[in-house]
Amino acid sequence: MSEPLLRLEQVRKSFGATQVLRGIDLEVPAHSVTALIGASGSGKSTLLRCVNLLEVVDDGVVWLEGSDISDPRVDVDSVRQQIGIVFQAYNLFPHLSVLDNVTLAPRKVRRNGRAEAETEARRLLERFGLADKAKDYPDRLSGGQQQRAAIARALAMRPKLLLLDEVTSALDPELVGEVLDVVRELKDEGMTMVLATHEMSFARQVADQVCFLESGVVAERGTAADVFERAADPRTQRFLRRVT
Ligand code: ADP
Ligand code: MG
Repeated sequence: MSEPLLRLEQVRKSFGATQVLRGIDLEVPAHSVTALIGASGSGKSTLLRCVNLLEVVDDGVVWLEGSDISDPRVDVDSVRQQIGIVFQAYNLFPHLSVLDNVTLAPRKVRRNGRAEAETEARRLLERFGLADKAKDYPDRLSGGQQQRAAIARALAMRPKLLLLDEVTSALDPELVGEVLDVVRELKDEGMTMVLATHEMSFARQVADQVCFLESGVVAERGTAADVFERAADPRTQRFLRRVT
């Protein structure tokens, strides 16, 4: 079997006395979408943050294309260039135009020239229906437009993997769809994604793999049909009864 793009092996993370991740195993094949579901506080964000090296794991290994990125000697910046992350809210720098938000990292980190970075950024903004917002500041955009711009910004680095942490949770209900459409499009293009979400119907539609986290362990995993239609674990069944 070929190496998955991302693999977590017995990942553990505590904050003080609180064990948040208690031995997480996860395999994410290239070009697949994994949805992390689970109650608030179950460790979804911490898991994503460990993958992006925003948190240091206490134990276990995070592998990206077969190399151990949880090794303390790893070049964190180079890993982060390969793994984009978008959060629930406040993704954009408020003092920069949308265009400058999208070009900042390619210019600073990849050392792309301004013209090249802007061409690429405008292409992404166009694609996400934001061409006319390039010169606006983030506060002029709706929440849905801001999240689409945040995804464009993450993609500008051409990551191998995109992590999405509840990217629709802070949005008014009528704006959720336009952001989910973008995620769906990225899936169709073969982008590898791991997303934490409360949108169960969306997880069911886009996820190749669904992982149910409970108290820091993967209590259930399978295809969307496995998890949503024939969950084996009573904890999953209880959770799904509550949220669907
Ligand atoms: P989820 O995203 O599933 O809601 P989180 O990963 O945010 O869960 O949180 C899991 C647990 O870890 C919660 O109990 C939370 O309070 C705790 N936690 C998360 N980050 C920190 C932190 N930086 N310091 C202390 N506790 C934290
Ligand atoms: Mg969270």
